[in-house]
Amino acid sequence: MFGLIGHLTSLEHAQSVADDLGYPEYANQGLDFWCAAPPQIVDDFHVTSITGQTIRGKYIESCFLPEMLSNRWVKSAIRKVLNAMALAQKSDINITALGGFSSIIFEEFNLKDNRQVRNIELDFGRFTTGNTHTAYVICTQVETLAEKMGIDLAQSTVVVCGATGDIGSAVCRWLNEKTDTKKLIYVARNQERLQSLQEELGRGKILPLEEALPLADIIVWVASMPKGVEIDVDKLKRPCIIIDGGYPKNLGTVLNAPDISVIKGGIVEHSLDIDWKIMKIVNMDIPSRQMFACFAEAILLELEGWQTNFSWGRNQITVPKMEQIGAASRKHGFQPLLF
Ligand code: NDP
Repeated sequence: MFGLIGHLTSLEHAQSVADDLGYPEYANQGLDFWCAAPPQIVDDFHVTSITGQTIRGKYIESCFLPEMLSNRWVKSAIRKVLNAMALAQKSDINITALGGFSSIIFEEFNLKDNRQVRNIELDFGRFTTGNTHTAYVICTQVETLAEKMGIDLAQSTVVVCGATGDIGSAVCRWLNEKTDTKKLIYVARNQERLQSLQEELGRGKILPLEEALPLADIIVWVASMPKGVEIDVDKLKRPCIIIDGGYPKNLGTVLNAPDISVIKGGIVEHSLDIDWKIMKIVNMDIPSRQMFACFAEAILLELEGWQTNFSWGRNQITVPKMEQIGAASRKHGFQPLLF
């Protein structure tokens, strides 16, 4: 059995779907109440691969909300992730993906030093961040969409916002090694980490966001932002592809301008329907088939019998591992979202 640990995108979102999650009494409650709420298994379902193999999965709602980070309620955020992991382990789940901010909190606050959660000693081998598959899916989106829109990577500039992150650095490695992308531009805040990425790849330019965006033919947005940002569409090149891989979405506004395509990054569509309710709750366009690529990684690991922390630690993702998970993804019937 595989597991997915997830969270909702805001307090407003959480309140609006409390009923669907099965706890209507949370609907009128504020952030302090959600801080105290325990994790819950709210969905139990089956996934069938196109190979015919069927596996069972459970979704654990951690009750973490991004506002806990904006308000610096770090202890609550940490408690949410550790308690959800303990619940997954107690429920005999072999491999569980830490969705969205769960893995970011795990890394940012060094939770590997917090193995003991009450009477449960966490076995980190039973968890994966899912970031290798997410990075693979985003790279496939870059390559396929560029071709579809007539953007030649060999003549193009790709800006990666969140370049030094786990997913961002993997995307940069892939674009550097597997494509003939002309120019890479790295955006993030910490200059030291940006310089070490630049040294690792031996190329690429470091620029602040506002200088980078007007140069981009393609923007990959994978920054860990608890709230979206607004960008000035008039300053963007035409055509321009924006792949927004953030959860919650990094872009605060839906950009509706000719020749600018905004795509949901890091989302895959399965070839067969899944009997779950959770993807409707998180507003997927086709909830029976679409999901976050990190969740799909747990499915792939379970299907392949690779019940191990395939994606773990920050900035360890290699191109061969992206190729390996990509091959499994295609084999079992997953496709990156392309519209
Ligand atoms: P990391 O924490 O590893 O990296 C985040 C990156 O964003 C870093 O480079 C960080 O650098 C940068 N960043 C953070 N804030 C800002 C800012 N205000 N301006 C510019 N850069 C910023 O995160 P992950 O790589 O694990 O995740 C990235 C995003 O992808 C998140 O939104 C996450 O929720 C989402 N995600 C989506 C998945 C999917 O399946 N679709 C799966 C997993 C994650 P610095 O701090 O120096 O600025």
